Amino acid sequence: MTNYRPTWAEISRGAFAANVRRAKSMTGRHVEMMAVLKADGYGHGAEALAPLAIKNGAASIGVSSIEEGVALRNAGVRAPILILGGLFPLKNFSVAQEFHLIPTVASFFAARALARAAAEAKRPFGFHLKVDTGMGRIGVSPDEANRILSWAARRPQLEVEGVYTHFATADVDGRFVRRQLKQFSRVKIHAVSLGLKGIAFHAANSAALLRYPDTYHEAIRPGLILYGLSPFGGSESGFRPVLSWHTRIVFLKTVAAGTAISYGRTFRAARRSRIATLPVGYADGLPRRASNKGAVLVGGRRCPIVGRVTMDHIMVDVTGRSAAVGDAVTIIGEQGPASLSAWDWAAWAGTSAYEICCQISKRVPRVLVA
Ligand SMILES: *Cc1c(COP(=O)(O)O)cnc(C)c1O
Repeated sequence: MTNYRPTWAEISRGAFAANVRRAKSMTGRHVEMMAVLKADGYGHGAEALAPLAIKNGAASIGVSSIEEGVALRNAGVRAPILILGGLFPLKNFSVAQEFHLIPTVASFFAARALARAAAEAKRPFGFHLKVDTGMGRIGVSPDEANRILSWAARRPQLEVEGVYTHFATADVDGRFVRRQLKQFSRVKIHAVSLGLKGIAFHAANSAALLRYPDTYHEAIRPGLILYGLSPFGGSESGFRPVLSWHTRIVFLKTVAAGTAISYGRTFRAARRSRIATLPVGYADGLPRRASNKGAVLVGGRRCPIVGRVTMDHIMVDVTGRSAAVGDAVTIIGEQGPASLSAWDWAAWAGTSAYEICCQISKRVPRVLVA
């Protein structure tokens, strides 16, 4: 569809490709990479990025649901795709199989359902077993994992392709990472004792990839860092942000001191001011909590949001700046020496860069750039 409103996000193919290569190069060559592209590639657009991930060294792709996996299959992606979420209802195992999506098994109940589905289909089904070592989300305990592995080893219709766990604190607490790793190792030792071969054990998200090489096992599972955002906040040297977000000034006025701006009249101009209106608001995913807090770049300088973020517009103070209707405005990205990141917006909105990116709505066209 043609875009008439000058608000768009640019997705740098070059930055994403370079980030994938860099992440891959941090591990030994024998460690595989699963590129995590859930939530439409953290809001960046998974269909465009999946082929780039594979081309630049990822062996497989992680998504959260069957829907996300099917979207990639329909876009022509042929690499292995793991569904990271638990499948429910269990009849979805057959759907996953139909689209060659690898399911996660997170309970003995699910393992049995998968075995039945495989028996019905008269062909072996592969899966990854999820172990909860401290995240408290989905997964079986290490003891239950060991029982499932023993049970699955006797069933030719089931192929354990992977066993994985997820860290709760890799960005903030290395001691708890160690404790989770220890639990995970118990499962690995058991799998070896059963003589199970070719199972990929994997655990490392972006934070673990960057900080804890002993978490790598057979594969890493980074998401955020592939988009050039550090899980620790801010930037990470050697990685480049993939997404930038732009708009243009569509309206400009001078207001007298004392003039109030936007809903609730929460802002009043302290002096005669130049106020620019931008065609972007919370319906585009700009957090309303950044009202009277956030800023954008105009002419290479930070200009503050004045008044409440509205559904379709924000107003910014451009007093003393060179600014004209039609001028380019950067919401996320660089303008000369100045820059704003998803983490800046996260700080203003009291959230994380993960959420800022995922929230950029469908209404904002993603434009692929070099
Ligand atoms: C989201 C997710 C990842 C990637 O996490 P990042 O912090 O973005 O690197 C890895 N594994 C699982 C199971 C996930 O849900």
